[in-house]
Amino acid sequence: MRYRHGIQHRLVLYVSLVLLVISVLLGGIAYRLAFEKELQNAVSLEQLLVKTVQAQAEVAVYAENTSIAEGIIEGLYANPSILAIRITGLNPAKFSAGTLPGPEQQQGSVSEYPLFSPVDGIEAIGSITLFRNDATIHAEAATNALHQTVLLLLHILITAFLIVLFSRHLVGKPVAQLAESLAAIKPGSGDRVSVPTAHANNEIGSLAHSANALIEAAEEALAEVQALASTDALTGLLNRRAFMARLGDQQARLQRQELARSSVLMLDLDHFKRINDAYGHAAGDAVLHQFGTVLAGEIRKIDSAGRIGGEEFAILLPETEPQAAFNFAERLRVLVAQSEISHEELTLSITVSIGIASLTASDSDAGMALLRADRALYEAKHAGRNRVVIDPH
Ligand code: GH3
Ligand code: MG
Ligand code: MG
Repeated sequence: MRYRHGIQHRLVLYVSLVLLVISVLLGGIAYRLAFEKELQNAVSLEQLLVKTVQAQAEVAVYAENTSIAEGIIEGLYANPSILAIRITGLNPAKFSAGTLPGPEQQQGSVSEYPLFSPVDGIEAIGSITLFRNDATIHAEAATNALHQTVLLLLHILITAFLIVLFSRHLVGKPVAQLAESLAAIKPGSGDRVSVPTAHANNEIGSLAHSANALIEAAEEALAEVQALASTDALTGLLNRRAFMARLGDQQARLQRQELARSSVLMLDLDHFKRINDAYGHAAGDAVLHQFGTVLAGEIRKIDSAGRIGGEEFAILLPETEPQAAFNFAERLRVLVAQSEISHEELTLSITVSIGIASLTASDSDAGMALLRADRALYEAKHAGRNRVVIDPH
C-alpha cells in the first residue's frame, strides 16, 4: 500500500523545505561576506597600485607632462576593477589627464589620493582619482555565493535521497507491513501480528507486541461474551439458542457422514407450578438450579444439556442408540426422584418426565427430532408422569 501523506514523504518534504530555507539564508550570508572580502581586496590592491605610481604621477603633475600621466593611466587600466582614472593638478583646467566614467558607470565608488611636490614632499600639487568598478566585485561575490548555494542544494538532494532510502527501510516498509498484518487479523482466529526479526527489538517490534497483547485481551473478552451469550444464567447449562446450534451441528455431521444414531431427550419437571405456588418463585428457582446441577453431573463430555424453556430441558447424546439413551434417561429419572433439594428450611423433591427421539439423516433439520421427543414427553405426561417414553419413529 502506498500513502500519499506517508511519514516518508512528509519527512522528505519537511527536511527538504527547511534545508532549502537554510540554504537560501546561508547563500545570502555567503554573498554578503564574499562581497566585503572582495571589496577589501580591491581597495588594498588599489592602494598598492597608487603607491607604486605615486612618485611618477607627482613628477608628471609637477612637470605638467601629459604623456607621463597617460603612461601611468594606461598601466593602471590593466587592473579590471578600475573603471576610470584621472590625474589632475590643483587646478584641473590647467593640468588634467585621463577620463571621468560615463553616466551608466556612475554606481562605482570614487577614491581620491593626494599628490605632493617631488621637491619638498609636503606641498599638495594635485591628485589621482580612481573610479572603482563595484559591479565586477558584486559579480565576483555573487558567483562565489552561487557556488556555495549549489553545493548546499546538492547536499539537500543527497540528504533527501538518504532519508527516502533509510526511512523506507527502517520505518515505511515495516510499519506498512505491521498495518497490513493487523488488518488481516480476524477476531477469534488465534492469529497474532508478527514483524521481521530485524524490527523485533525496536519501536515497531514493541508496537506489534502491544497489538498482540490487545488482540489477546480482546479474544479473552470475546470468549467470555460468547460463553455468557450461550449460557443459561440460572442453571449454567446451554441456553436454548446454543443448544439448538449444537443440535444443528450434530444433524449436519450426521448428514455428511455415516454415524451411529444420536438421541435427543426432552425433559419437563412434573407439576412444577405447584412448587412455585406452594413455596414461592425462589424455591422454584432453587429446584431448577439443582436440577441443572444434576444434569451437568450426569452427562458425558461429548453430550450437551440445555435449558430450552421455563422448566423444560433437553439433552443431546451423540452416537447413542435409543436403548442406551433410555437406560441413561431412566437412571436420571430415578436419581432426580430420589434427590432431596434443600431451600432455606425446606426440603423439596421433584420428578421429571422424559421423551426420547432419534436424530436421523433424513430429517431436514434437527428441530424435527426435538419435536418427536416432545411428542414422546407428552405421552409420558399423559401416562402419569415420572417416566421415560421413546418415540417409536
Ligand atoms: P406439568 O407436569 O404438566 O409439566 O405441570 P407443570 O406445572 O410443570 O407445568 P406448567 O406448564 O403448568 O407450569 C410450568 C411452570 O413453570 C409455570 C411457570 O411459572 C414456571 N416457571 C417457568 N419458568 C420459571 C423460572 O424461571 N423460575 C420459576 N421459579 N418458575 C418458572
Ligand atoms: Mg412445561
Ligand atoms: Mg412441567
